[in-house]
Amino acid sequence: MATTHNLGFPRIGGQRELKFALEDYWGGRQTEQELAITAADLRQRHWQQQAGLDYVPVGDFSLYDQVLDMSVTLGNLPIRAASKEGSELDAYFRAARGRGANDSPCCVTAAGEMTKWFDTNYHYIVPELTADTHFELNPERLLTQLSEARKQGLNAKPVIIGPVTYLWLGKTSDGSNPLDLLERLLPVYSQLLKALADAGAEWVQIDEPALVTDLDANWCYAFNLAYHQLKTNRPKLLLATYFGELRDNLQLACELPVAGLHVDAISALAEVSRVADWLPSHKVLSLGVVNGRNIWKSDLNSTLGWLEPLNERLGQRLWLAPTCSLLHVPVDLSREQELDSDIRNWLAFAVQKLDELKILARALNEGRSSVRAELADNQLAIDSRRSSHRVTNPEVRKAVAAATSELGNRQSPYPQRIVRQRERLNLPAFPTTTIGSFPQTREIRQARLQYRKGELSEQAYIEQMRAEIVRCVEEQEKLGLDVLVHGEPERNDMVEYFGEQLDGYAFTRFGWVQSYGSRCVKPPILFGDIRRPQAMTVEWIRYAQSLTDKPVKGMLTGPVTILNWSFVRDDQPRKDSCLQLALAIREEVQDLEKAGVNIIQIDEAALREGLPLRQSDWARYLEWAINSFRIAANGVDDSTQIHTHMCYSEFNDIIEAIARMDADVITIETSRSDMELLDAFRSFEYPNDIGPGVYDIHSPNIPDKEHIINLMTLAAERIPAERLWINPDCGLKTRKWEEVTPALETMVAAARELRS
Ligand code: GLN
Ligand code: ZN
Repeated sequence: MATTHNLGFPRIGGQRELKFALEDYWGGRQTEQELAITAADLRQRHWQQQAGLDYVPVGDFSLYDQVLDMSVTLGNLPIRAASKEGSELDAYFRAARGRGANDSPCCVTAAGEMTKWFDTNYHYIVPELTADTHFELNPERLLTQLSEARKQGLNAKPVIIGPVTYLWLGKTSDGSNPLDLLERLLPVYSQLLKALADAGAEWVQIDEPALVTDLDANWCYAFNLAYHQLKTNRPKLLLATYFGELRDNLQLACELPVAGLHVDAISALAEVSRVADWLPSHKVLSLGVVNGRNIWKSDLNSTLGWLEPLNERLGQRLWLAPTCSLLHVPVDLSREQELDSDIRNWLAFAVQKLDELKILARALNEGRSSVRAELADNQLAIDSRRSSHRVTNPEVRKAVAAATSELGNRQSPYPQRIVRQRERLNLPAFPTTTIGSFPQTREIRQARLQYRKGELSEQAYIEQMRAEIVRCVEEQEKLGLDVLVHGEPERNDMVEYFGEQLDGYAFTRFGWVQSYGSRCVKPPILFGDIRRPQAMTVEWIRYAQSLTDKPVKGMLTGPVTILNWSFVRDDQPRKDSCLQLALAIREEVQDLEKAGVNIIQIDEAALREGLPLRQSDWARYLEWAINSFRIAANGVDDSTQIHTHMCYSEFNDIIEAIARMDADVITIETSRSDMELLDAFRSFEYPNDIGPGVYDIHSPNIPDKEHIINLMTLAAERIPAERLWINPDCGLKTRKWEEVTPALETMVAAARELRS
């Protein structure tokens, strides 16, 4: 009999109840107790939604982040957050979000650093470690939730992050090695496991996704040490890995002394039979058979095709689950009544994915005939997607087949191009510009919303957006900026805006996925071949250009970023979808050029975050990602200037790929690193123009002129001054005009001083 279980459930709530409760609590509109009630209600509902599984996860629920929760459990909240007055919950949120100067001076606290959870778009709070870190068990949260679940009569399986992955996720601030803390950490894990066993937990899921990354001998040793020490006096451990293949770590993972191993049988399908070979015969093998990272229905018959022989072989030892926590998908498809019914029929969200799991288990346990109707339904949906003319577009296929990497070549190399561009643009030294967006005021948001709901006519909407563009252009002229932008008032989001205008994309109403804390994103669904039915941005930019003699930059999102922030197709490689997006953006670039736009910026904010987990896979990703960018960008005349923008500050390990993009100008985030990151550009002898961000747009503070001049002087020590631009770190949409105007005034004044 195959056993079914789940690794984790979305906690934000189908209607984002947790988000709103949290924000009310933070805003002082809700008490701690009210928040606790909402949280308990959500847990209860989520367990109900997982009913019918043999084991449900407990402790996967979090008020903010599961890694921060683990830090609390281990008594490792940063001292600056924990030592202040107030409740425990207060300290938790202080660690998560920081506390600003507006609060009483006792309470100013820096937020914990946030970073991406493996290769997902979820962000966790990095555990803070030093050589002196001491751990102390604080099992309250887990024990409370365990007893809640048991009261509901559930077979509850607590979920915790394993000790090695916990240290792997952490960062030391004193240069010490996090692994040195393992010996100190393990006794606390022992106590925790014992406490869970005493509270009635038969199994504990211990997540060690670090096992799918490149591990050196010290980390491998740490795994052995940890699990040998945790061998006694505890519940059965299910060691969970997900997001990728085990590769070199396969034997290690199979041999650790635990009662079961979970592997992601979708991203590591090729390894499953080897895992089954290596796994000692007393251990459970849990297979992640339903994709926890996307929103497509599983092809159940084809899954059964490879699963049935394994079921024969493993018998009782086979467990079935989604590949990873369902945190990464929306909650429930049944509310999406407005979605096109064809497309809806191809999708599965968390609740539907668990239904699939149950069907698979019944098919294995009682034979396919026991779920004949369900399998037939599923097959119909799979076939309908496969044969749909909405998915495959012969014209696009033809264009893709004809696209060679030649398309990515400019007419001439940069040194020749830049001469022609400088002639045409006639810009001063240290040209000033911005990254694209200007403040998204309440009126702008309201107008977009009303237009969407049909409460505002198209004409009225266009007029209002145009008025905003006029304001933006006038403001920039007054400020004396050299290269202007239209301000992006018409864009809700830099990916959704383009997705909505491309064939091949669908949008949900409630498909929210947690990004961090109370923040959610609603990734568009890339379901079919991408075609651009008509120009997407040309009219707005043309209008902006008509208002001024200064050059206005056309503003686009690049193919790699659109791809990385969407739910993508599982019926073709990411690289193929990326190329289709590239061809669509290329058409837009060429239309902008035809409309007389001389500078076109193509943002690739998410290029870096698409890097695979394993370094050995980077080259392949960068190859097609950069190729796609080049195809999108480089179909223009030498005299047209291509800009790109990336809002992060780590380039060392990808500088060669960045150079291959061959953008005439790249603007990047640097202000917080004192221009040190330009070292990567210097030592690579990066040849093209660079605009290192001179002030941090995430902060409301107005930058200081001397500081900007200082930064640019540092920059000029690394990059020849004639190739430097002056701009903020990123777009200004989250700022207020009262902040933006003086900040840019200062920036322009600094540029003028530098010129003289
Ligand atoms: N052009 C976009 C903006 O200014 C870029 C945003 C980003 O890089 N995240 O908003
Ligand atoms: Zn940015």
